[in-house]
Amino acid sequence: MPSNPLRKIPSVTELLDSPPLRRLVDRISHNVVVSSARMLLDEVRTELQTAASEMTLPSVTELAERIARRIMATELPPLRPVINATGILLHTNLGRAPLAEEAIAEAMAVARDYGSVELDLVSGRRARRMAAVESLLKELTGAEAALVVNNNAGATMLTLAALAAGREVIVSRGELIEIGGSYRLPDVMATSGAVLREVGTTNKTRADDYAGAIGEQTAAMMQVHPSNYAVMGFTERPTLAELVAVGHQHKIPVIHDVGSGALIDFSQFGCTDEPVVQESIRAGAEIVLFSGDKLLGGPQCGIIVGRRALVDRIESHPMTRAFRVGKLTLAALAATLRLYRREETALQQIPLLHLLSTSVENLRNRAQRLAPQLGDTAAVAEAEAQQGTTYLGGGSVPTQELPTWCIAMKPAGMSVDRMAASLRKGDVPVVGRIQKERLLLDLRTVFPRQDQDLVAAVVALGSGR
Ligand SMILES: *Cc1c(COP(=O)(O)O)cnc(C)c1O
Repeated sequence: MPSNPLRKIPSVTELLDSPPLRRLVDRISHNVVVSSARMLLDEVRTELQTAASEMTLPSVTELAERIARRIMATELPPLRPVINATGILLHTNLGRAPLAEEAIAEAMAVARDYGSVELDLVSGRRARRMAAVESLLKELTGAEAALVVNNNAGATMLTLAALAAGREVIVSRGELIEIGGSYRLPDVMATSGAVLREVGTTNKTRADDYAGAIGEQTAAMMQVHPSNYAVMGFTERPTLAELVAVGHQHKIPVIHDVGSGALIDFSQFGCTDEPVVQESIRAGAEIVLFSGDKLLGGPQCGIIVGRRALVDRIESHPMTRAFRVGKLTLAALAATLRLYRREETALQQIPLLHLLSTSVENLRNRAQRLAPQLGDTAAVAEAEAQQGTTYLGGGSVPTQELPTWCIAMKPAGMSVDRMAASLRKGDVPVVGRIQKERLLLDLRTVFPRQDQDLVAAVVALGSGR
């Protein structure tokens, strides 16, 4: 056997002495550089041991540079702003709703300094953390009380634990939803300690089915908005008001999980299935649950509104502390909610609503303007403005299509998958969608201020990166 290449692997000390790593030891940390160097040397060792053919060992400088590149990559913020050109407005993988400027400013202000999180500045006494947002939530939804927790899954879990642990909650078989990831209503219910009492069938459940299931053990009835699927055809479900009537007859509260948290009527955008929170309260639901970062367009949180006595019971449950929101969330939510005091202001200032209400003509004009610019770049063989349809996404109405305009790009000299991956990895990451061997950039989710960034990102693809 020829000389063993494993013997020639440099030591960590040797690597650390090389100029690129010496600089990083000073700039970042000795420990970080040492552990990265060890990791890479381990990998090289394994490679040498398993390589079928002769493999040459990279030089010390080459190895050091590789390590330096890796370390530099970890110095970038792990969460980066992304241009969402998927057309999906509420993309959970892309962090759902972008925040309004007002929300950003108010969150930043309390981030930098101490804040009046649990202090009433007038009386000097301790205040409830919820005071900052409760009055706005009451005003906007018509509810008697409100509580904000980390997300709607938390809101649901907490509500069930506080109001129904050890007792039954009646839910239609048509509403046993899975939201994706690990959220499955039957599992959430079991974890909360409440006992799921299923009624009806997948496609048909009547008010009588709920009434018939009420007994000694019943703690609540729950209606869940099927936000990411639709049962169509031979179907029936009671209206919320009908369910509330059953509840009143038997003195059983109705919990309504509306999911997306629409505070305005979304039928103006062509989304006719979205329950509006105020309407659930008006229909008599005792508790209404929704997310803050879906159609409401605010920060991630879960909002519980409803009857004072019930919200108080939920708030005093020991688990509430585990779902507590921080000052950044409260500040951003309060700012977002204030925008809803005037619907026109909300439509203007809340990015999600602004994107949703952008006219098709606006999208078409921009697509037609951008297509030739994109088509002229080295990485693109052909670019064409084309009409399309998209969805709210992120656990919202699946059956309701939104009109949109895209730029469909045919890559030059690379596969469409490669093009999509390169755009994702660019300085300003762009996420599009692939359709029929074309990469589509959907303008429904692109802010006009990002149009030229899209062009720059595609130009950069052609510069051999
Ligand atoms: C999205 C959704 C949830 C979960 O909300 P998160 O805020 O993501 O935890 C629960 N119920 C319904 C109906 C939903 O649409």
